[in-house]
Amino acid sequence: MAAGSTVRRSTGSVLEIDLGAIQENYRRLLGVLDGVPSAAVVKADGYGLGTAQVATALRAAGCRIFFVAHLGEAADLRETLPDAEIFVLNGALPGAEADFVALDLRPVLNGLGDIERWAALARAEGRVLAAALHLDTGMARLGLPADELDSLADAPSRLDGIALRYVMSHLACAEEADNPMNETQRRAFEDVRARLPAAPGCFANSSGVFLGSGFHFDLARPGVALYGANPTPGRANPMAGAVRLSAPILQVRAIDPPASVGYGATHKIDRPARIATVAVGYADGYLRSLSSSGRCHLGGYDVAVAGRISMDLITLDVTGVPAEIAHPGAEVEIIGPGQTIDQVAERADTIPYEILTSLGRRYSRVYTGGTD
Ligand SMILES: *Cc1c(COP(=O)(O)O)cnc(C)c1O
Repeated sequence: MAAGSTVRRSTGSVLEIDLGAIQENYRRLLGVLDGVPSAAVVKADGYGLGTAQVATALRAAGCRIFFVAHLGEAADLRETLPDAEIFVLNGALPGAEADFVALDLRPVLNGLGDIERWAALARAEGRVLAAALHLDTGMARLGLPADELDSLADAPSRLDGIALRYVMSHLACAEEADNPMNETQRRAFEDVRARLPAAPGCFANSSGVFLGSGFHFDLARPGVALYGANPTPGRANPMAGAVRLSAPILQVRAIDPPASVGYGATHKIDRPARIATVAVGYADGYLRSLSSSGRCHLGGYDVAVAGRISMDLITLDVTGVPAEIAHPGAEVEIIGPGQTIDQVAERADTIPYEILTSLGRRYSRVYTGGTD
């Protein structure tokens, strides 16, 4: 046995992922979609929660269609789910087409060049190959821009040999329900679809699901809502929280003024205080932008991050918390019901997507639920 392999490797921090909540969220989205089916987006390691576990749970909840960003993610997912339909949002890089065929993956065709290469492979293979076609309706990121769409509409035979499983587009402002860009993109999507060979439409991400049935088309593609983030910012979260992150207090110290806490001495102590040091840091995805702004939960008390986030540690002001609650070994809730990913994201001046996909690799991961 390799040296060190028998030591307890955990930092004491525990990331609990509730697969039952993720399944429940899938069902809640289906409820809103009211008869329209839904795929699941599991890119970036299932938004940081573990593609294999998350996809297996979603498959058990009835999901058959999955989207990832890259070929490598798709290859891993194919091992987990031999019979799922898997789309790769970033498409097939030149030279990767054969891997797509071998693993029965469907590229998202983002431009005329992608279409040409996929159609050429279909001709070479002497069979029809499935794909999704991505049209840009205002995001200017991926997908056919207007001039390429014109060329395609004039010569739809470019798609010969390609089975268009879905025509898709992506909303730029879906989480702002009142943003007129949503309706502009929805109309543009209907217009461009009408100019192409008929194929089912795939449009709504998580927030798009909540914009009304006009945005649902034939298949939804939610990601972040499945993992419990609020797809309707500013309104109550219709999703169930799926993540709980806790870490132990290592030390508690009483500090007399004048003193300061942490790097940069940014947190000044001007009256007697108690500071708890907790085993989580920016190397674990507790972003440094939470310095002096983050909040955690400890035995029913809401406590503030005092000073800078370190690589492996944070310091909390526990002055108002009884010593029998704030003691070494006590478990601090970093993310959970008392401090949701949306709240953490807001305090870090970012979005819940970044909190989720930054979740570290040093936690003990515990999966619960998800068997039905
Ligand atoms: C990531 C992504 C999604 C999922 O978006 P969420 O906001 O997480 O629901 C859907 N479609 C595309 C093209 C994406 O890149």
